[in-house]
Amino acid sequence: MLTSRPSARSAEIMARARARFPGGVNSPVRAFGGVGGEPFVAKRGKGALVWDADGNEYLDYILSWGPLVLGHAPDVVLEAVSRAMQDGTSFGMPTEREVELADKIAERMPHMEMVRFTSSGTEAAMTIARLARAITGREYILKFEGCYHGHADAFLVRAGSGVATLGLPDSPGVPAALAKLTLTCRYNDLEEAARIAREYPLAAIMLEPIVGNSGFIEPLPEFIPGLRKIADETGALLVFDEVMTGFRIAFGGARERFGVTPDLTALGKVIGGGLPVAAYGGRRELMQNVAPTGKVYQAGTLSGNPLAMAAGLATLGALTQEVHDGITAQTGVLVQGMRDIAARHGVPFSASHSGSMWGFFFRDEPVHTYDDAKLSDTVLFKRFFHAARRRGVSLAPSAFEAGFMSSAHGDAEIAETLTRLDDALGAAVA
Ligand code: PLP
Repeated sequence: MLTSRPSARSAEIMARARARFPGGVNSPVRAFGGVGGEPFVAKRGKGALVWDADGNEYLDYILSWGPLVLGHAPDVVLEAVSRAMQDGTSFGMPTEREVELADKIAERMPHMEMVRFTSSGTEAAMTIARLARAITGREYILKFEGCYHGHADAFLVRAGSGVATLGLPDSPGVPAALAKLTLTCRYNDLEEAARIAREYPLAAIMLEPIVGNSGFIEPLPEFIPGLRKIADETGALLVFDEVMTGFRIAFGGARERFGVTPDLTALGKVIGGGLPVAAYGGRRELMQNVAPTGKVYQAGTLSGNPLAMAAGLATLGALTQEVHDGITAQTGVLVQGMRDIAARHGVPFSASHSGSMWGFFFRDEPVHTYDDAKLSDTVLFKRFFHAARRRGVSLAPSAFEAGFMSSAHGDAEIAETLTRLDDALGAAVA
């Protein structure tokens, strides 16, 4: 038994779920394929805490895979959503809240002159591929190994996230003819990216400006400026997939962090404050190509949903520079604390963070690529994961996922987390 905590109710729900959903889940990573054991069946969350169906309490660092930058069920979001709900849950027509959220995004990310809201990051990335192809009249896309851009066919090629965990670099069902148009290169390998861009007419060079889907991997200093230069020299569009990094790695995202402006950007997660929202956007003249002003078709019954817009507005409204800086500092304390713990236990370890996004590998050498990440000690990760879970700390159930932090994780929560993780690592290496 991997967990000594009460789990009968969770097991019973999962047994029913397995009869209804493939693997009992509605998104593969939730099945715990990367770590084994019974999945976490969530019941309730508040602030830094989440409770499973058996009533066990955990300090949560999954935070719904990134959106919950204010923690679970923040009052400000609950109030905004319930106010919006009184007016109706969906119209399928323009609303003022959509304009307000787009304004709010542009305030922090001025290069998002125009946006289009979608309901998932997958749709945003998928449409960016279509838009970039239409704008440039080219068909090839360059992506990087271990970067995940949602599950559109064009991107299920050496993707990270659940795909990395499951060891499925390509998914059956993706037409070979389409996969051929997606070229892949090692993350941080500027020379190889330049060679590919010279050899193939690229519509877009797309990347996670900091990778969160094959563990947490930061770009080398020359990588992103180098890609901008390659894109400019070869006529490709530079696309930042900031679905995960947006409003996390810096107040103004990757553009602020790296001083490089992309042509198009995908956003998601935080901008929906826990409700289904994503967006793509960029320069006005590029976005004017989207229907109905332009010919590139994309639509959505629930796009710009008023409840989701209200949640996003409340979240970004509460996420001031000061709050962002506070979460960043707390993340730094957690990461340093984990380094200290690993050093005390004599375990090969590296950990880092950018803003409120963080990650660690059981490996001493620097991790610059997905291949490097795969050399980390994943067996120790599994033991550590379960030991942490038994002690009430909920970490991402895969060595190839990033961790997140929220404004609800105060000094006391971080100190308690570190105490439990110290004990957990001791148990994992014993
Ligand atoms: N892009 C990145 C960088 C992501 O991390 C994700 C999801 O984790 C996606 C795209 C896909 O977003 P969604 O799960 O909302 O479709």
